[in-house]
Amino acid sequence: MSNQTPMMQQYLRIKAEHQDAFLFFRLGDFYEMFHEDAIKAAQELEITLTKRDSGQKEPIPMCGVPYHSAEGYIKTLVEKGYKVAICEQVEDPKTAKGVVKREVVQLITPGTVMESSMLHENESNYIGSLTHFQDGSFVIVYHELSTGESQLILLEEDITQVIHELANQQIKELVIGTSLPDSYRRQLEAQLQIVLSYEDEVNFVGEFRDLVEDLNDERFLKAFSRILNYIVRTQKRSLHHLQKPHVIQLQNYVSLDMYSKRNLELTETIRQKDRYGSLLWVLDKTVTAMGARMLKKWVERPLMDQRQITGRLEVVEQLYGAFMERDLLRETLKSVYDLERLAGRVSFGNVNARDLIQLKQSLKSIPNIKNILNEFSNSNIKAINDKLVYPEALVTLLEESIIDEPPMSIKEGNIIKNGYNEQLDTYRDALKNGKAWILELEKREKEITNIKSLKIGYNRVFGYYIEITHANKHLIPEGRYERKQTLTNAERYITPELKEKEALILEAQEKSVELEYELFVKIREELKNEIEAIQQLATIISQIDVLQSFAEISEQNNYKRPTFVENDLYIKNGRHPVIEKVMEDGTYVPNDVTLTKEEFILLITGPNMAGKSTYMRQLALTIIMGQIGCFVPADQAKLPIFDQIFTRIGAADDLVRGQSTFMVEMLEANHALSHATDKSLILLDEIGRGTSTYDGMALAHAIVEYINNNIKAKTLFSTHYHELTDLEESLEHVKNIYVRAEEYDDKVVFLHKVEVGRANESYGIHVAKLADLPDELIKRATIILKELESKQKQINVKQDELQTQLSFFDEPKQQNAKKLTNSENEVVKELREINLLEMTPLEAMNKLYSLHQKVTK
Ligand code: ADP
Repeated sequence: MSNQTPMMQQYLRIKAEHQDAFLFFRLGDFYEMFHEDAIKAAQELEITLTKRDSGQKEPIPMCGVPYHSAEGYIKTLVEKGYKVAICEQVEDPKTAKGVVKREVVQLITPGTVMESSMLHENESNYIGSLTHFQDGSFVIVYHELSTGESQLILLEEDITQVIHELANQQIKELVIGTSLPDSYRRQLEAQLQIVLSYEDEVNFVGEFRDLVEDLNDERFLKAFSRILNYIVRTQKRSLHHLQKPHVIQLQNYVSLDMYSKRNLELTETIRQKDRYGSLLWVLDKTVTAMGARMLKKWVERPLMDQRQITGRLEVVEQLYGAFMERDLLRETLKSVYDLERLAGRVSFGNVNARDLIQLKQSLKSIPNIKNILNEFSNSNIKAINDKLVYPEALVTLLEESIIDEPPMSIKEGNIIKNGYNEQLDTYRDALKNGKAWILELEKREKEITNIKSLKIGYNRVFGYYIEITHANKHLIPEGRYERKQTLTNAERYITPELKEKEALILEAQEKSVELEYELFVKIREELKNEIEAIQQLATIISQIDVLQSFAEISEQNNYKRPTFVENDLYIKNGRHPVIEKVMEDGTYVPNDVTLTKEEFILLITGPNMAGKSTYMRQLALTIIMGQIGCFVPADQAKLPIFDQIFTRIGAADDLVRGQSTFMVEMLEANHALSHATDKSLILLDEIGRGTSTYDGMALAHAIVEYINNNIKAKTLFSTHYHELTDLEESLEHVKNIYVRAEEYDDKVVFLHKVEVGRANESYGIHVAKLADLPDELIKRATIILKELESKQKQINVKQDELQTQLSFFDEPKQQNAKKLTNSENEVVKELREINLLEMTPLEAMNKLYSLHQKVTK
């Protein structure tokens, strides 16, 4: 290192402290990168890689981006999951002795971006942290830097529960301690696409004491302090806007594992990862970005407390019925900007005067909102209105200080109103008088010289000047002006008097700009005391926004208010909220659902494409909509309150993650069976399809039986194994229903109508026909089907036969098995000990390979 240039030594020293980030090293007008960083950044950012002479044999690879356009490059890197350390010159290069001092002033990571261009306004950008405790429990913290919001969640199960929870929030970065067991770390990495960051300091940062005064669990303190320390370390700036963390009690919310949330397409579609086509897309008629973010949070955590749910429904009902008021409310909310993120930027010190005007306008809407809410006598609306407090003093401050249309820059003046500060007014008067004097001078000189085109102009280099065209310059009285500059068609002059005035004007100008900046910063500092109040307003306004959105869509789509009941579920003419909306033409066929204490398992048969899985999803979505406090797509809905929803529907994207369909199916089924209660909803679509017929059917059979006997959860189970419909006779709680389709002239017509009873044909070939497969192929398939069907008739699977099929669950039956060799025994033993849930697909493959080796060599 010693034979490096001093600047390079400085670079290497700083880089050593930021190994896992791109170091943007400020050199004049550029951020430069060197060595490995440069090579990788040149690729990722598609910029030119150059070399810098290092005085050594090998030149150093280098690349750079101009500092004024750095934001776009940083965004690209951060979105790709990298971290970027911004290293600035922290002393004036003109006065510096030796190498200019440089320091990393901010670390930008996927979870800590603040710049609005890098954030989605309708979505929260959480960074998470995970802390594991001696007693086996975990605490997850979610933090949103742009709004200062934090959530704390205690999980007492296992790492799988942690993974489900983290997957549901789609966090991009997770802060952990270096002592988190390796096996956990590997699972987090394998199952979540996530950037891991490390922070070992879990003692509390003193300045944030008051944030945690209500936290009485030592584990929460430690976990929260881990993430705070990480943020303080990476952001290195004011964090006034951090809010007291909310403790989320998972038992108060419907638990949706990651499979269900994905399968039900609550916030994005499975295939396109698109908001369009998701439940959120249908529900979102919010007007503000804060409302949109709050809605997403509500959808992700449906409530279980009936009082809370009813509270929301009451407000929705009121707003539903008040078309005019709702319209007015929506109109008023349009002038409310993102108060939550504005508050964050106030704290970070990067608001400009335009932001403050937005803040003022937003706050000024509050009296209007209050007036509208005052029209309602409902106690829930009154309670909301009471919490909406108009911050009059704050509005007055902004009203008196900031001009209505300020520029972007806060360093060039023109932001503070006249009359706000006396000194500023004096400068401005001087400026105005000076300028008036110049206009007067222009007039006077025109008269004296009799040159009509004489004019006084200004530029940065020469200041004020008198400009006279060459054609007229002979008219100037001898010695009147001093020549300063010659242009092609004019001459520019000055006079001592003009220069004297100029000095005064420029001084007033400079001083007023400086003063304006000072005043602005002072106002911004004052606002820091108001952050908490602004955040509270933001929360209330977001709630109002979500509730009006519910009322709006409920009215538009003809939803009805659900009632909550103890046990028996009944839905009359239920619809799938998304498909109905996509079809738009009113052709969606509504269906009823009845699930009672006696008959809580519905076994659904019907041809492919009949609408079985749509029927199942529609039920889950209806329940979720009800439990977030929205009306539901049905003519009538009596719903018990559900504690958990499990689904096993479709598997479109599992192959991408490298797991076999069958494996995923079993993981998901296992998850449902081991967690569900009699208050849960289980949806199982075509379970067992991923394996050979008998295995599949046996598994499906056993699963239904297990739910019937042990779990007693409300269950919808669709199957193409028509044999399973016999279970209605043998199992007490099973009822058959089917989705009707009819055949006319060899063609299937799907009626999408659900009826009691069982379907008896599979119609699969007809669907192939619909898909335009070649005629010859269809004919051949029909013949093969006939053959298979005649064989099938002879088989007729019985209960005890199924038992033998199921034997792979049991201990090997010794009398039937041939004696195993030693290595085979060893393989069996190893197989028993494997914990499949803790393996990545690759690890499973490797294990399989090694087992195979043992028995084949
Ligand atoms: P299955 O699960 O029986 O194979 P799906 O539920 O996937 O069938 O439905 C197939 C298609 O039929 C869906 O894409 C949907 O467009 C349409 N569909 C399903 N249910 C209805 C309904 N009730 N009304 C109108 N169209 C429906």
